[in-house]
Amino acid sequence: MGKPVFLNPNSNEAVELILQSIGISSGIKRYEGNNRHWTFVCCDGRPHSLYQKLLTESVICFYCNQSLLTRKAYKDHHKLIHQGKSSTFSLEFDWLYMRIGLGHFEMNVIKSFFELNWTPFLEKMSEIMQFTTDNAKNFAKTCKDHHVAWQLRLVFHTTSLKEMVLPFERYMMKQGEMPTPDKYLLFYKEIMSSNQRWAYLHLQVFRFSQAIINLRIGVRRNNSCLLQSAKFHPKQLFYGRSHPHYRNIELFDTLQYHFMPGEVKNIWDNNTTFTVSGHNSKGQDLDFLLEEKNRAVKQFIPSGSLPSNETWDVICCNLQYIEDLQNLVSSWVGTQRSNNYQTKHVDIEFAVNSFQQTLKTYLKPENETFLWFEWIQTAPWVTKISGNIDFKTNGSH
Ligand SMILES: [Zn+2]
Repeated sequence: MGKPVFLNPNSNEAVELILQSIGISSGIKRYEGNNRHWTFVCCDGRPHSLYQKLLTESVICFYCNQSLLTRKAYKDHHKLIHQGKSSTFSLEFDWLYMRIGLGHFEMNVIKSFFELNWTPFLEKMSEIMQFTTDNAKNFAKTCKDHHVAWQLRLVFHTTSLKEMVLPFERYMMKQGEMPTPDKYLLFYKEIMSSNQRWAYLHLQVFRFSQAIINLRIGVRRNNSCLLQSAKFHPKQLFYGRSHPHYRNIELFDTLQYHFMPGEVKNIWDNNTTFTVSGHNSKGQDLDFLLEEKNRAVKQFIPSGSLPSNETWDVICCNLQYIEDLQNLVSSWVGTQRSNNYQTKHVDIEFAVNSFQQTLKTYLKPENETFLWFEWIQTAPWVTKISGNIDFKTNGSH
């Protein structure tokens, strides 16, 4: 871990200074370093959006090497200092490839998924799982705790799969055939897809929810092919819900990857995620690794005082040394340090069995017209998401 930069990356100026500092400490040639021409940088949503502007706006004057934050600032500078000469500059931040932290990407995809499916499924499911007060429901809906949200989504996914495979199994038994995944897809396309409720559930489970699972598996195992697919499928959630930052980030990420040279692509693909323990299915992306490092640094900050920049510097620059020392002492006294993240587990089986009844009601409503009417009243997004849903079951809505 290197020296931290004591700036909040929430403005163009701050992001510019942080990137320059990364460039200098990485020995980038642009900043007269001798180590490398380019590197990867990873960040979360907000600084990523700011970087997208800086990439095209921030330039370096060819004549005096001055860095200018915007094209307008460059024009004013050129007019003032180099009048009469032709305008020549280079982009300042073309020496880096910006990566989005996949931990935060996953959190945002899950949030969008919860927003979209709260009314049809997840509110009732959360009630079954004891999120009954308004505060508790809001906690579940807004995915305040990522681990709880993950487990709730797991209950939804498992229950839906169980319920969706039932009519298929019955159909196969009736036909005297062996069920296979290919036959399931055919059965769904030819028979079930004409039912709009089935079609909606199918889309949520097989496209979005499965992509969220694939994203987690891809990160854990540094599997770039799986990650590409897992990032491609849920992007519609950012458009279906109001997530302007992540829409841009997803688009930027896709275009950047498409246009990067083959050699860079290979390095990118082989290093999508990293593992600290060395276990090859416990990979994490850099954003979550940094959070772990932050937690480790905070352990060594003297309690009860506001740490000075010097204290942060000293701990960050010596973290590896301090941790090695701590491990050595632990091995002498026979105690083991554990880095495993413990989280409260939900009773999945109970939750699945209880939610299955709610899902059955959704898929086979006794009073179709009444339920649709209730939906339209409470969820205006239904019309936006599935324009082809036929609401006019009795011609009165
Ligand atoms: Zn100049």
